[in-house]
Amino acid sequence: MSQIPVAKPVLDEHEVEAVRRVILSGWVTQGPEVAAFEEEFADFVGARHACAVSNCTTALHLALKAVGVDAGDEVITVSHTFIATANAIRYCGAVPVFVDIEKDGYNIDPDLIEAAITPRTKAIVCVHQLGMPCDLHRIVAIAARHCIPVIEDAACATGSEILWKGRWEKIGKPHGDIACFSFHPRKVVTTGDGGMLTTANPEYDRKFRLWRQHGMSVTDAVRHGSKQVIFESYPELGYNYRMTDMQAAVGREQLKRLPAIIARRREIASHYTEKLSSAANVELPNEPTWARSNWQSFCLKLASYLDQRDVMQELLDRGVSTRRGIMNIHLEGAYSVPGSHRVVTSLQQSVAAQQHSIILPLFAQMEGIDVTCVVEAVQASVSPHLAIERVG
Ligand SMILES: *Cc1c(COP(=O)(O)O)cnc(C)c1O
Repeated sequence: MSQIPVAKPVLDEHEVEAVRRVILSGWVTQGPEVAAFEEEFADFVGARHACAVSNCTTALHLALKAVGVDAGDEVITVSHTFIATANAIRYCGAVPVFVDIEKDGYNIDPDLIEAAITPRTKAIVCVHQLGMPCDLHRIVAIAARHCIPVIEDAACATGSEILWKGRWEKIGKPHGDIACFSFHPRKVVTTGDGGMLTTANPEYDRKFRLWRQHGMSVTDAVRHGSKQVIFESYPELGYNYRMTDMQAAVGREQLKRLPAIIARRREIASHYTEKLSSAANVELPNEPTWARSNWQSFCLKLASYLDQRDVMQELLDRGVSTRRGIMNIHLEGAYSVPGSHRVVTSLQQSVAAQQHSIILPLFAQMEGIDVTCVVEAVQASVSPHLAIERVG
């Protein structure tokens, strides 16, 4: 029996042809494809500016720098996220301050933010975990009261939507100050590796463009197109966070597919929800009325007496690959160093989410029969009968 994987990128001859076109053009980095991808991405999410970079981690680093996060500052975020969220804060010499997630979801609990704010708080990094929009209404309102910028870690949320002033808007408009996206293969669209920053602030956008290519005053495109000799200068410390034109060309193809990919992902998610709603021992993901997930991941919470590893093994034996829920950064060795982070609330929900949740296969190419196979395997693996057997 062939195994159903957890995820699978949608790539075919269209992407191959796009890369071929770029290679034969002779302009392979930071050129016309990158510019076109930025424009098309900005259009898609409804943002004024979009700046492509090498990945979402570098996007987060530049976003934090742009809002002025510096050595010794504090940035409020969650521990229950991929490690890159907090690593980017540490690249600035700042300290991640972890608060817990909501009881009925995997995103930051807005009720806990205010108590974590100190005079050193320079930003809030909220994460749209698993593609599910976090409660931006409340987060942005709290941040505004304290004049703190909001950076959205939208790594998983390309194409997710939020109801904003009565209208459905894409994540990345952005509703905070800056949003950061990832195009790693584990996300809904991919460029191999890749990232994007969106903002309504032209000054931030100018900084991103400066810093992503070594802090160089003149872009390659400007120098290439100039009839006059131009000497560049390096007024500020920059980085090499560029996206190549091969990646951008793939990204443009992926963007064309995105509406169909998301439609199919939503179909599969609603099928899971419908078929598993009566399953004992599992809690289904909660989609608030004001949110529409892109279902980057479909995460189930197991009853606490079920053993996560046993359930995952049982599913694997039945041909279904799963992953355990999202990690907790504060439990990793890289964060055992004194001063590497600060914890201001109990992280009980975060730890429970890691220990008791599993991620089911969900990708656009899944057929009806795969979905049925996953549903049946889950029903069999979490049955009360098995749970009691294991407890006994
Ligand atoms: C994947 C991911 C990142 C990192 O993205 P890269 O493009 O791999 O750097 C950051 N934050 C979250 C929440 C992610 O899921």
